[in-house]
Amino acid sequence: MFYLSTRNEKIRKTPAEAILEGLAKDGGLYMPESFEALRFPMCCLTKMSPKEISAKVLELFFGDDSMFKGEPNKAKAFNALLDRAYGGKFAEGDDYAPLSCVDGAYVMELYHGPTCAFKDVALQILPHLIVEAKKSTNMTDDIVILTATSGDTGGAALSGFSDIDGIKIIVFYPQNGTSAVQERQMVSCEGKNTCVCAVVGNFDDAQSGVKKIFSELSLPKGVQLSSANSINIGRLAPQVAYYFKSYAELVNSGKIKMGDKVNYIVPTGNFGDILAGLFAKKMGLPVGKLVCASNENKVLTEFFESGTYNKNRAFHVTKSPSMDILISSNLERLLYIVCGAEKCAKYMKELNEKGEYTITPEELSQIRELIDAGYADDEDSYKTIKSVYENNGYLMDTHTAVAWSVYEKWLSKAQSTDTCVVLSTASAYKFASSVMTALGEGFDGEFDAVNGLNKLTSVKIPYGLDGIEERTVIHKTVLQKTEMLDFVAKMISKKVWKE
Ligand SMILES: *Cc1c(COP(=O)(O)O)cnc(C)c1O
Repeated sequence: MFYLSTRNEKIRKTPAEAILEGLAKDGGLYMPESFEALRFPMCCLTKMSPKEISAKVLELFFGDDSMFKGEPNKAKAFNALLDRAYGGKFAEGDDYAPLSCVDGAYVMELYHGPTCAFKDVALQILPHLIVEAKKSTNMTDDIVILTATSGDTGGAALSGFSDIDGIKIIVFYPQNGTSAVQERQMVSCEGKNTCVCAVVGNFDDAQSGVKKIFSELSLPKGVQLSSANSINIGRLAPQVAYYFKSYAELVNSGKIKMGDKVNYIVPTGNFGDILAGLFAKKMGLPVGKLVCASNENKVLTEFFESGTYNKNRAFHVTKSPSMDILISSNLERLLYIVCGAEKCAKYMKELNEKGEYTITPEELSQIRELIDAGYADDEDSYKTIKSVYENNGYLMDTHTAVAWSVYEKWLSKAQSTDTCVVLSTASAYKFASSVMTALGEGFDGEFDAVNGLNKLTSVKIPYGLDGIEERTVIHKTVLQKTEMLDFVAKMISKKVWKE
């Protein structure tokens, strides 16, 4: 299996190379050369454990000899990798994505990992894929991961990369730009290879600072930079697994028959999570519609309606901040599937130069066969949190509520009788103050909201947030945007960061 750039199919890489590079040299994203070779053995699905399903998916994506070089039993090797990655990390044991039945539909809870957001599912695996890719390609360089975060990615990446040999990680977050819970999760990270800095400014300041470092920093020998964001194929593949896992569970519990279609409703930002669902479909899973749920930053909703993607618009800061995105990077992979590399490169060039592009009506109708879309604003999402809690006793966070709200509107129009699964991407406790406000309750600061929500609902505080307020602040660096480059240069020149 080779991976090709979405912008130029002549750029061909092995799985190990694609994982190590992240982004192709021409700015494209890596895509599997064919989905035929990735067909999942559906006949065995219902007999497999969640871990075996994940291992099988990883083996399909990355199981050539560029990974685990010389190891004849790749299945065993990927199972062992998953033990290292997931072992003891998820609250529900082996089940990293439990399903809850809510009002006739299912909520897939992807937030039972160490930082209580769905990004854990992939970011606990990615570091181990990188370690293996380094080993199999005899790469001895130190890899330094640089990440700008608006909150969830930083915590999940720090948790995943903490104390992994041969990799260091520096996370930049906007000072006063994340929730207090998210900030404390990051700045209390104990890993010896981790470094966390607040940047004076907003997320874009942190992000453009990181981009500048990637293009301008001259690196000493033996060091390479990389990133942990969701364009890496090593982050996408682990997410494909939970679509198969949820389907197996629905069949095994008698809710559906093998072969029945299932619709998935996905709260979307960078288009990674929902794209993983499309990959699952192309690998043989009977997926009905994938419904792309956006918040007020509804650039995707408009794209799926009109065929025009236009990022030139006001940016809204919402109560579902992890979906506040105007450039959904992974959409490029969908364009590649539908339009091919040449057209994809053309559209991305237009996006870069003019901030917009329009696909053809034929391309749009092909896309609409696969994907529906809708959006919900903060008011919709607050109303949803309250009504679902009051009517069904089920507590959801603001991101999940966007998806649930879109699901309700979509269902009334689409009239689908197929089973629906709504993806839940964060614990309500991670956005406790918003959830408390939605429920009409008062509180005194974010940490008080966590305790108040617990008193009110008796829903268990997840272990990843338990005692969060008492965690020691280890990382205290605050930087001006202009200081980021020098800071990284200095950190890279230091062999050891913490004793
Ligand atoms: C990152 C994130 C999303 C968006 O996922 P994408 O793969 O970027 O579309 C949604 N909800 C939460 C809580 C997140 O952290």
